[in-house]
Amino acid sequence: MIIVLKNGTTPEQLREFSDRLSSQYQVQVNVWRGTQSTVLGLLGDTHTIDIESVEANEIVESVKRVQEPYKKANRAFHPNDTVIPVGDAKIGDGSLQLIAGPCSVESEEQIVEIARRVKASGATFLRGGAFKPRTSPYAFQGLREEGLRLLLEAKRATGLPIVTEIMSVSHIDLFRDVDVIQIGARNMQNFELLKEVGKLDKPILLKRGLANTIEETLMSAEYIMSSGNEKVILCERGIRTFETYTRNTLDISAIPVFKKLSHLPVIVDPSHASGIAWMVEPLSMAALAAGADGLIIEVHNDPQHARSDGAQSITPARFDALARKLFTLHRAVRG
Ligand code: PEP
Ligand code: MN
Repeated sequence: MIIVLKNGTTPEQLREFSDRLSSQYQVQVNVWRGTQSTVLGLLGDTHTIDIESVEANEIVESVKRVQEPYKKANRAFHPNDTVIPVGDAKIGDGSLQLIAGPCSVESEEQIVEIARRVKASGATFLRGGAFKPRTSPYAFQGLREEGLRLLLEAKRATGLPIVTEIMSVSHIDLFRDVDVIQIGARNMQNFELLKEVGKLDKPILLKRGLANTIEETLMSAEYIMSSGNEKVILCERGIRTFETYTRNTLDISAIPVFKKLSHLPVIVDPSHASGIAWMVEPLSMAALAAGADGLIIEVHNDPQHARSDGAQSITPARFDALARKLFTLHRAVRG
């Protein structure tokens, strides 16, 4: 339930009213203060609340029941866009965030070299998988702890904050120095993992599952947020369709829908969406034009010999040319 308060409500009136609501109805009251209005978001069993009696209060402007099952991720609970600061970067503030790097961390030379190159082209984050979710148990599984150590080396060398995927609750302690933890598509509904990363004070890049709806994705964000961590970044990375030309089908329409339904930042992954290096550029441009806050792009210095996802990886030189186009497009669409 959403309660919009009248302009001019004093902090004392607000405190007294929200205390009364939480004790009378056993609900959690979230307060959102904007420049124009103050909104109370009530979580819990709100069915027993009598709307008319709440409306009768002198500080109440309007009361509305929220139909959607996601509450904290809902734009109604938080009308302004959420902005997530990480180091010098701010995700969701209208700037263009470029997360770039290899699918997998392979060696110190590889990750440091790629980090230096993508940073010089304007990337704001370094990506790289240490724990890899591979379809085949015989495929390269990632360098694991050693991969995390090498990512931190690359961070030391370049200053770029790092984004890397977690696959198991039992690895959480290993991720303490990681700047942004990725929940991969295959784990989007690993609810125990979502609850655990929800206890951290760290941004979470939540990828949409291969065959999950927009609402299911927002419910997974809700799991993280309801456990206490509101720093969630949504990631559209393509979904399974009947099309076989591309690895997945990039759901461009998910971008404006996420933006309409939620206040969380949206990042798009054109690499996993297409599976084809030459498609990364047009899909990146389309995603940015459709309102994405940033892109996560696989970049490899030797794609032909990459240990995973070489076919969809672009070279640092191609990333450089793409980044230039993206910054120009960003100026044109965001002003
Ligand atoms: C990845 O980022 O390398 C990855 C495995 O992504 P996804 O979970 O979207 O497939
Ligand atoms: Mn990959």
